[in-house]
Amino acid sequence: MQIAPIPTLSKEINDIRLRTADIVGNRIIPNEGVIYSGGDKSAKLRKEIREEVKKQGLWAPHLPEEYGGMGNGFLTHAYMNEILAWSPLGNRLFGVIAPNSGNQKILVKYGTDEQKEKWLIPLINQEMESGFSMTEPDAPGSDPRSLQTTAVKDGDEWVINGHKIMTSNGRRADFLVVMCRTEDDDDDSGNANMKMTQIIVPTDSPGLERVRSVPIWGHTGGDHMEIKYKDVRVPLENALGARGSGHQAAQDRLGAGRVYHCMNTIGQMWRAFDIMVRYSTEREVHGGKLETKQFIQGFIADSYIDIQAARLMTIHCAEVMDKDGDSRVDISAIKVFVPEAGSRVVDRAIQMHGWRGVSSDLPLAGMFQGFRTLRLADGPDEVHRILIAKEILKKYHDGLSWDFGV
Ligand SMILES: Cc1cc2nc3c(=O)[nH]c(=O)nc-3n(C[C@H](O)[C@H](O)[C@H](O)COP(=O)(O)OP(=O)(O)OC[C@H]3O[C@@H](n4cnc5c(N)ncnc54)[C@H](O)[C@@H]3O)c2cc1C
Repeated sequence: MQIAPIPTLSKEINDIRLRTADIVGNRIIPNEGVIYSGGDKSAKLRKEIREEVKKQGLWAPHLPEEYGGMGNGFLTHAYMNEILAWSPLGNRLFGVIAPNSGNQKILVKYGTDEQKEKWLIPLINQEMESGFSMTEPDAPGSDPRSLQTTAVKDGDEWVINGHKIMTSNGRRADFLVVMCRTEDDDDDSGNANMKMTQIIVPTDSPGLERVRSVPIWGHTGGDHMEIKYKDVRVPLENALGARGSGHQAAQDRLGAGRVYHCMNTIGQMWRAFDIMVRYSTEREVHGGKLETKQFIQGFIADSYIDIQAARLMTIHCAEVMDKDGDSRVDISAIKVFVPEAGSRVVDRAIQMHGWRGVSSDLPLAGMFQGFRTLRLADGPDEVHRILIAKEILKKYHDGLSWDFGV
């Protein structure tokens, strides 16, 4: 990994990038095997790296400074993350552990002082685990307004009934942020986007049943849980934000999360590219190095184009978000483009490596599965494409045209 300062960036962002590269390139990547193998050596190394990250002031790039984070805007975070995500372990060792990180952000924005004390601080201190329980088996997750889980007021409690699926980290979570319907559809007390409320539910609440962990890509050891809620009672003060704010809170959470996913994808694509290009200069096939074959040169050139397009789109989106501009189209555009571009890059890297490409000797197979999965999680591609087209068409119907510059 060779990272030079970018002339157009501030000294501060360049400094963050270089210090991140030092830790990821020299401490994490060479030790991935040891860290993955677990045991005492792994635990000691992880602790040392985390301490180094904190000493360097690079801990929790997603959190405000008052909560022990870096206080980064999206742009700084985007430039940092394209380095950080070279290793799949990077985020975790820099204090960004999904889905806890998403819940932390939502608690920072919507939580009361009491909720922050009870749930946010232990989550930041890694004394608690959490999950986000929105998707349901019997309603389309791509249309959160259709969700069926209900929370009904009874005295000073919410009574929650429903059935959720794919609640990541659900097995280990101490609490879940559960998306609940708190208004009936025919209730005119709010528009269609104001029927939901997010409610904090401790996982040891009576009536909460962890049914099973859903295997992903043939792996049974994951943590994406199917969960049933039967007359689960929690205090009214466990509602996160005002009643009816659940849809907006979910959009806030998912919007930022989508940008983070894209930043991570770019770091991984960049590493895949690096692995691919190096290998092309080393491997001999049919009387010459891979790099001399035009098919392979095409792989390299097309991958460069995919990565540079993906990172510039993501950086642009981060810039718009930092300036509080309307970033909906940009977020949806990167959410569609970046994982698709990532799949193409990693597919070429896998192909070029023969058997090694699909083996676990390299990180490529894991990246491939992750990018494919991203095309579903946090909103499937089709829904994002629909949103892009809708927003663009709306401008033209309003007598305007689309301005790519803002
Ligand atoms: C690894 C992983 C982890 C996840 N973690 C979580 C989690 O922690 N918490 C959580 O709540 N959820 C989680 N999810 C669920 C994820 O958010 C949903 O899968 C996603 O929102 C889509 O919902 P759905 O699966 O119900 O698909 P559906 O809404 O049923 O859609 C199915 C398919 O229909 C198509 N489609 C949908 N709408 C349209 C349309 N208007 N026009 C054309 N085609 C359309 C799309 O191709 C879509 O993929 C996770 C998913 C994965 C894969």
